[in-house]
Amino acid sequence: MDFDQPVNCAACGYDLTGVAWQGRCPECGGGYDKSSAQGVVRGGQGLLGGDDLTPSQRGERLMVWVKLGSYAALGGICLLWGGIASSGSLQPARPLALGLLGAAAFGFAAYATWFLDRRDNP
Ligand SMILES: [Zn+2]
Repeated sequence: MDFDQPVNCAACGYDLTGVAWQGRCPECGGGYDKSSAQGVVRGGQGLLGGDDLTPSQRGERLMVWVKLGSYAALGGICLLWGGIASSGSLQPARPLALGLLGAAAFGFAAYATWFLDRRDNP
């Protein structure tokens, strides 16, 4: 196995890149040994996780990333709108603040989505 590749815990998917060559996973406590490739899976399998996920799990994961992407896009649009609106406004602080507020709200929504996904799918 190529050790330049990212390595993840086979049990929980925790990123084991940069930790000791063998030991216990900080996330789930499962033993692993990179040198014999026991208890680890090659990382970099993409955003949808490893090959051991069921189709429904993949679907859920995909939905999470779609939601995250949507929130990020909406947050970006809020910022963009704030910037554009403030440049043509007599009171530039107001649209800018609204834009920042919207971006922060969508940023928080994206964070909450990510956080809940992490909690539900450790
Ligand atoms: Zn683990």
